[in-house]
Amino acid sequence: MDTTLRGVGVSHGVAIGEVRHMGTAVLEPPAKQIPAEDAEREQGRARQAVEAVAADLTARGNLAGGEAQAVLEAQAMMAQDPELQADVERRIAVGSSAERAVYDAFASYRELLANAGEYLAGRVADLDDVRNRIVARLLGVPMPGVPDSDEPYVLVARDLAPADTALLDPTLVLGFVTEEGGPTSHSAILARALGVPAVVALPGAGELAEGTLIAVDGSSGEIFLDPSDEKKAELEAAAAGRRAALTASTGPGATADGHKVPLLANIGGPADVAAAVEAGAEGVGLFRTEFLFLDDSENAPSEEKQVTAYRQVLEAFPEGRVVVRVLDAGADKPLDFLTPADEPNPALGVRGLRTLLDHPAVLRTQLTALAKAAEGLPVHLEVMAPMVADRADAKAFADACREAGLRAKFGAMVEIPSAALRARSVLQEVEFLSLGTNDLAQYTFAADRQVGAVSRLQDPWQPALLDLVALSAEAAKAEGKSCGVCGEAAADPLLACVLTGLGVTSLSMGAASLPYVRAALAKFTLAQCERAAAAARAADSAEDARNAAQAVLSGE
Ligand code: PEP
Ligand code: MG
Repeated sequence: MDTTLRGVGVSHGVAIGEVRHMGTAVLEPPAKQIPAEDAEREQGRARQAVEAVAADLTARGNLAGGEAQAVLEAQAMMAQDPELQADVERRIAVGSSAERAVYDAFASYRELLANAGEYLAGRVADLDDVRNRIVARLLGVPMPGVPDSDEPYVLVARDLAPADTALLDPTLVLGFVTEEGGPTSHSAILARALGVPAVVALPGAGELAEGTLIAVDGSSGEIFLDPSDEKKAELEAAAAGRRAALTASTGPGATADGHKVPLLANIGGPADVAAAVEAGAEGVGLFRTEFLFLDDSENAPSEEKQVTAYRQVLEAFPEGRVVVRVLDAGADKPLDFLTPADEPNPALGVRGLRTLLDHPAVLRTQLTALAKAAEGLPVHLEVMAPMVADRADAKAFADACREAGLRAKFGAMVEIPSAALRARSVLQEVEFLSLGTNDLAQYTFAADRQVGAVSRLQDPWQPALLDLVALSAEAAKAEGKSCGVCGEAAADPLLACVLTGLGVTSLSMGAASLPYVRAALAKFTLAQCERAAAAARAADSAEDARNAAQAVLSGE
């Protein structure tokens, strides 16, 4: 019998491969005293671990070549630094375990480096990485960070932060499984962007043994351990069937009776454009620009670097619509140089537009870069601010856009319930709304989007969330303006029909979801979508809302 575990499926498809864990930050080894007779053995263990880590770093450097090789060789030398090694041996001689001695010796060396001027201070992260590797090896736990593997694997992690995922090699990741996170977490968003199957909120994911063969069904949320050949064949056939059904759907998004609902793509940068174009996206509904800011934790990218990246995206959609979101830093997307380190509750602190209004130069550079990137192109550029709370926020953003000489439509994301409740007031300052249903759910239900235990409340089928969507769409209609959805809710084919019935005017999602949503919309008329939306809003729970909408659309 195949063993089955169940989490929340957030990205369609089936992945079959071996488990590789994303190593977490190394824990501090306990400072216990070892008996004197163990010292020699511990010193041997420490030397062996250092040698193995140095050899591994050198080997990976040889494979990588170029600049990466220089960095990895420098790290291998750090690991073998004679003074550090002498310090480790001395600490063991007076009673430390090998792992604790390495941890402490590196800590004192780290302090020296951190205070030794800008260049050496910049090497602290490299030193920490070396320490983590040696300690992890001694503790027998997975290496921290992205797995070192030349073979494709299923990535298993507690949760994935944008900074971790920036380092992933997409050609090696067959799928994701995370213990935390809900349908709107970054793991889910990234999996959809990469088009790989994913299951989140899987209790006990951390205990899956490294190297175990698993099958991940990103549609049902099921994980099969050591699947039999029959099971593998059955899963693969089902996934192939679903893919085949989709190839029939092409062209712009519309309901069966021709009500147009432009289908746009969510992207993180120029690298995602090809998949969006291939999936038939009619433009970009959410360009998450913070991915450009992840390379350097100390500074914003230069204006030139930004112009180049923006222009690459704008050129890909010559006559289309491209909605760029200005930097959304803070909370689940922290940036060292902008995000306050000491907030008691970062999700409720200075993030999104609030951060930009506190750092007007960063906003100005971004808007100026966008203005330059769009010069001479026929693209319909739209620029929007994340985390707009009220009319004053919307005005501050629109003023900044005008001051930067930006010729674009200015919009506000509706991610805070106050903006949905007072959408008409916000619309006095901006030309469009875009519903960020991930954060809107987080703030409506007081449910952190990164915490798997509250993923039930992150379910975008929650009728309270549908009410806020309806309020925003009605306000936009009354003002003669548009109101799209760019949160993950838009990627659920059935919910996309309901959102259309609520009056939403465009849907934006990861490229991999576009064919599913296009095919679902094409099956129903606008009136059917409206009836499904009314039935969902009349329900008292997310589950009942989904069932009610399904019943209307399947004619039950
Ligand atoms: C959202 O909150 O729904 C959204 C689209 O923004 P992000 O997921 O990047 O916070
Ligand atoms: Mg958001």
